Amino acid sequence: MLDYHTHTTFSDGKDTLDSFIQSAIENGITELGISDHYACVPKDIIKLKEDQSLSEKLKKYDPTKLEITKEGFCDGYSIKKSVLKDYFSEINSKKEEVKDKLVLKIGIELDYFPENWENVISLINKYPIDYIIGSVHNNPEGDWYKHICYPDTYIGMTDNEYVEFAQKNIELIIDMINTGKSHIVAHPECVCGTKKMKDISKMYDHFSALAKAVSDNDMCIEMNCWGPEENLDPNLFLYKECGRLNIPVIITSDAHFITELRRGYIKGMKWLKEAGVKYTATYDKCQKSVKEIKY
Ligand SMILES: [Zn+2]
Ligand SMILES: [Zn+2]
Repeated sequence: MLDYHTHTTFSDGKDTLDSFIQSAIENGITELGISDHYACVPKDIIKLKEDQSLSEKLKKYDPTKLEITKEGFCDGYSIKKSVLKDYFSEINSKKEEVKDKLVLKIGIELDYFPENWENVISLINKYPIDYIIGSVHNNPEGDWYKHICYPDTYIGMTDNEYVEFAQKNIELIIDMINTGKSHIVAHPECVCGTKKMKDISKMYDHFSALAKAVSDNDMCIEMNCWGPEENLDPNLFLYKECGRLNIPVIITSDAHFITELRRGYIKGMKWLKEAGVKYTATYDKCQKSVKEIKY
């Protein structure tokens, strides 16, 4: 069993790297990928602080936790740029240490911002990495962004505005895919579940375009099982598209606590089977190996 989407105390996870490794071994995980957040917001925080109209939006950011870099600033949920080196070297040395009990992989969940994506990618590619999970958590809104996971993003949004917002999010994910710089597409349908979408069929054309882009770029997609298991509701239309195009799908927990490892795995397998997904994948030094799923 494999879990490639996990967050430790290097970013916003609540348990340490060591406890994730220990728990993975105890719970029968054979391959564990650590994928802490690197979210570098391409804005000049100093200028933004001077702009009174943005002060409300900045409130949710604790300035003491922000790190200014030349690419932008590292968000509160991100690994700090100054800690990246330790992140890679610590996981790398653990790889060797635990190799008889666990295959450990070094990943990262990278936030896509078109303005600094190329720079952030070259920064990350200086380190030994097995895979990059490309993620769009933020839709641009004027001078700022709207985070797709924050409930206040959706306050006052009509159903139509919500569909438009979600479609915009998928379009950004497609842009990211088409840069060809990441390997696994993060939670591609997350935006449709944060504020329950009434008519998901309005997203089908976007989901088809997304699946086509993943296939064209030879990438894979995750079925992200974040959240309470009883609320899990992946969009089968999207995964049927993955099945039809032979796109590999990886079931992930997005664990921020060790207790969340393997979350949703059994249900996820059931859904993948129903959707007709035939393949999954593993990564080693950014090289993909596609495997047939044994149901
Ligand atoms: Zn994410
Ligand atoms: Zn995540």
